[in-house]
Amino acid sequence: MRCVSRSSGLRPWAPDDAKASDVLQLIAEHSSDVIALVGPDMTFSYISGSSERLFLRSPFEVIGHPVFEFVFHEDLPVLVEANRVVISGGSNDATVTVRVIRGDGSLLWVEVASRVVEHLKSGTPGDRAVIMRDVSQRKALEDELRAMAMKDGLTGLANRRAFDEALSGEWKRTLVAKSQLSLLLADIDHFKKFNDAHGHQVGDDCLRSVATAFLSATSGDKDVVARYGGEELAVVLPKADRNHAMDIAEHIRAAVEALQIPHGVEVGGVITVSIGVATALARDGATAVMPQTLLTSADRALYLAKDAGKNCCKSALLLAS
Ligand code: GH3
Ligand code: MG
Ligand code: MG
Repeated sequence: MRCVSRSSGLRPWAPDDAKASDVLQLIAEHSSDVIALVGPDMTFSYISGSSERLFLRSPFEVIGHPVFEFVFHEDLPVLVEANRVVISGGSNDATVTVRVIRGDGSLLWVEVASRVVEHLKSGTPGDRAVIMRDVSQRKALEDELRAMAMKDGLTGLANRRAFDEALSGEWKRTLVAKSQLSLLLADIDHFKKFNDAHGHQVGDDCLRSVATAFLSATSGDKDVVARYGGEELAVVLPKADRNHAMDIAEHIRAAVEALQIPHGVEVGGVITVSIGVATALARDGATAVMPQTLLTSADRALYLAKDAGKNCCKSALLLAS
């Protein structure tokens, strides 16, 4: 290790140098990271003064307290697992990203890199040297990128990828709860002719308006409204039985009609949608492959709606396990 001397520039630094501990203290206190020592019992035995800046906690509030006291409960399993690997001898190093509870109660994303240090004389494992770094900006950027990757650029709805994740996630929850799950698959009627009559740009505006109508007719906190592809939209309705799903589908159909977007002279009237509704009941012994079969059933119901003259809703039911 080397440090800078004002008079002679770089000079070698020996561990027994009398100034060594002063230099280390200086580094620890002025580092933008928080440096700490944690005992084998996971209690802080030292923390640098930068804790005041990053965690809004003075070293006196931290030293002698267990690490787990300052970690957000949702992230404790991550820390427990890393600790288990270190204790079992699997590794001397562990790096985890967790939320730290600051002095004012707010949460801060922190990367915690720790390494078991051996007692210099005995060579047996002792404290852990820990470096904690604020990664909140990186985390916010990652979250933003993830949200962008799950959003449809034209309508702002969930995209196909987000839809696939939501559908399989909801089906897993449905199975555990032995409940039911409904899916709506909607398609704008005669949309090709609308584009032909008004141009693609107006077609895009129309798609955005239709998406807004879907959002207004569904429950934002639990239903997932997605652009399934082209001019087809899908809605995942957790826990909804067939009647409830048909009610929502009818509500959406009416909301789109109420937009009163004029079609072209060829079709006449206003923009409308046809909707296929499928409901899967989680029941033992059923053989339907989920969630693909739910999609196929909703698609079949959609084409029944098209065959029945469009601007209407049709439903299908299946048992699945
Ligand atoms: P149907 O009533 O049977 O559904 O007839 P349709 O004309 O709506 O169906 P079809 O599948 O034949 O055509 C869908 C059209 O949707 C084709 C394409 O011009 C239009 N479309 C798909 N995606 C977009 C888009 O992102 N923007 C615009 N403006 N149009 C799109
Ligand atoms: Mg279509
Ligand atoms: Mg269509």
